[in-house]
Amino acid sequence: MNRQDFPILEKTIYKKYPLVYLDNGATTQKPRCVVEAMSHEYYNVNANVHRGVHFLSQAATDLHEASRETVRQFIGAGKTSEIIFTRGTTESINLVASCFTQAFMKEGDEVIVSQMEHHSNIVSWQLAQARCGIRIRVIPMTDDGRLCMDEYERLFNERTRLVSVTHVSNVMGTINPVKDIIRIAHEHDVPVLIDGAQSTPHFAVNVSELDCDFFAFSGHKTYGPTGIGVLYGKEKWLDRMPPYMGGGDMIKTVSFEKTTFNELPYKFEAGTPDYVASTGLAKALDYLSAIGMDKIEEHERRLTRYAIEKMQEIEGMHIFGPLGEHINEHDAVISFEVKPLGATKDTPYIHHLDMGTLLDRLGIAVRTGHHCAEPLMRRLGVEGTCRASFGLYNTPDEVDTLVAGIKRIQGMF
Ligand code: PLP
Repeated sequence: MNRQDFPILEKTIYKKYPLVYLDNGATTQKPRCVVEAMSHEYYNVNANVHRGVHFLSQAATDLHEASRETVRQFIGAGKTSEIIFTRGTTESINLVASCFTQAFMKEGDEVIVSQMEHHSNIVSWQLAQARCGIRIRVIPMTDDGRLCMDEYERLFNERTRLVSVTHVSNVMGTINPVKDIIRIAHEHDVPVLIDGAQSTPHFAVNVSELDCDFFAFSGHKTYGPTGIGVLYGKEKWLDRMPPYMGGGDMIKTVSFEKTTFNELPYKFEAGTPDYVASTGLAKALDYLSAIGMDKIEEHERRLTRYAIEKMQEIEGMHIFGPLGEHINEHDAVISFEVKPLGATKDTPYIHHLDMGTLLDRLGIAVRTGHHCAEPLMRRLGVEGTCRASFGLYNTPDEVDTLVAGIKRIQGMF
């Protein structure tokens, strides 16, 4: 789908193999229109935003604020004041972990996360734990990577202040039942942060319909530039949270005695924002909207099913995450391990690093290792996995190349 918009996909790897890029979970490639919009801004509009009276500054400010409106529409938020530009999902989560805990949590209060979180949704809470003694509770999961919802309900008590869970697992592709997660939390009057790093690129997200209190995602995983991300937050929470960082743009007045803070969303945007990246992000979101998120979802789901089917035919293959009757809960991320040809039940799996390195020699880019989810690796009983993750431009032919590559490598061991 739309491969011609992504010049990098034409690349030949090691002067021999056409690039098969299956590392979209780490970052997506950029369509030409995103790069062109950014270079156009640098060449024609560039000036610092918000504080300038001159023509270029106002033009750059208009572009930056128009991008905020594009983001608002894309995720179905009610107001642009609820859209905060950050550097990415990690910064968005850290912002909440820092400012929400300061405003609403004290020693002994609890945040609920899940077994399958990315480190950014674990370590940011551990930092808060070190600062103010909060407790972290963990939703367990089944062996096939689905959250135990009964256990989740049992984690709530009078000290629960926030739930912070990932929408889609970056390791197993599990699509979590976030609507139920949010409903249950709200029944206990507890707000919810959704880590949307791995959902926003793959299917339509509507924060108003979800009714989540916070939602985080990264520009670079959504076909936009690096260095920019988004935190959506309901005004009722953001208004009562202290600023994250101090500096320009987030103030109203400053004296040595007392500083007053700017209105939302600027209260959380200290310093010069990456106003060119916001343009790039808006262009990427417009690009996705023009294709249609439903179409992207359908294409990627079909591709994922095809890949799982073909990979399951490989001898000695083990795929992580929901399969069989739960295949509908499996998004476009496939973590796997595989044994050498002719292996017995005691033969160890081929090391993920060997598999990834040898696939690379065939021009196939996958990710290997713990995927910034070490607690999940421990739960799965592995040190790491090999992960193929799809984007809108991947094709069944590329899946075939991956499958042929895995089989060829199996024969080398
Ligand atoms: N959360 C999830 C589920 C992710 O997959 C990632 C990145 O892989 C992150 C958070 C962190 O995103 P970023 O590095 O863009 O801040």
